Amino acid sequence: GVNLDTRLDYRFIDLRSEKNQLMFMVQSSFIKYMREYLYNNNFIEIHTPKLIGAASESGAEVFEVKYFDRKAYLAQSPQFYKQMAMASGLEKIFEVAPCFRAENSNTSRHATEFTSFDVEFSYINSYEDVMNLEAEMLTYALTKLKEEFGEKVKETFGLDIVVPTLPFPVMKLSDVYKELEERYNYKVPESEKTDLTTEAADKRAFYHMRNEEGKLQGYDLIWRGVEITSGAQREHRYEKICENAKSKGLGEDVKFYLEFFKYGCPPHGGFAIGVDRLTMLLLDIPTIKESQFLFRGPNRLNP
Ligand code: ATP
Repeated sequence: GVNLDTRLDYRFIDLRSEKNQLMFMVQSSFIKYMREYLYNNNFIEIHTPKLIGAASESGAEVFEVKYFDRKAYLAQSPQFYKQMAMASGLEKIFEVAPCFRAENSNTSRHATEFTSFDVEFSYINSYEDVMNLEAEMLTYALTKLKEEFGEKVKETFGLDIVVPTLPFPVMKLSDVYKELEERYNYKVPESEKTDLTTEAADKRAFYHMRNEEGKLQGYDLIWRGVEITSGAQREHRYEKICENAKSKGLGEDVKFYLEFFKYGCPPHGGFAIGVDRLTMLLLDIPTIKESQFLFRGPNRLNP
């Protein structure tokens, strides 16, 4: 019954509660079933480095570490290496590993270190292949999870594990903006709109593929109002990816990455799910601080 900070200080005792014990059993099985789906579909699990020589996406959000007589960074995501695996001919891979983000944000869904369930695969025709695989994987895992833990979760958390039906509802970002305006009279400021306007297009990563009209070939998956995944088809054509990097002013830092595409790379795409957010939303836990084994945030590095 004490406040959350005290509970986190004494997490080793806090974890003894029935709810917390069940939460980690459920999380473990959720990951087990997602893995199982991928293994059944000929994916292999890989392990990419978390110590990297250059900041991968935007320099501002990376943790810098001393690396002998120079600097290294903690990986914000395995993005570049997942794609390297595609260029290497591995075709279907996944990784479950930590990501580090030096974001000073104190929300209920952000941590500075979190576990990401990352998937990447080759020979896709569009980002829709990526969406479909993710939807199937989640539906498979939730079905199994409900069989194993449905009753226990109902008893302990008072809620149902809901297995979504396929296909998942899809909405274009332009339609979301339109509906917000029509139904709620809310106009999204131009500067906040991603994808649609040129000045906001900068906000998206340079490695996403765009179609002939310049539209990004990607998606976010929203669960109970919270983003749990972003996924996309990636740009695999060497000339195009070089152009994109250049237009964002990216130089030396991404040179090694651009090289991956120089000798040919199949069309590919993938996605990343935040495991801690997934657990939080599944069990209706108020904050990621409680769904992580040990929360890491701007003001918390201990225990
Ligand atoms: P947000 O907009 O919510 O900050 P993002 O767009 O930065 O997320 P991505 O970089 O696309 O997120 O990462 C993929 C997934 O990883 C997210 O959908 C989310 O589930 C998870 N994730 C991202 N950042 C964090 C974080 N700081 N803490 C916990 N999970 C995160």
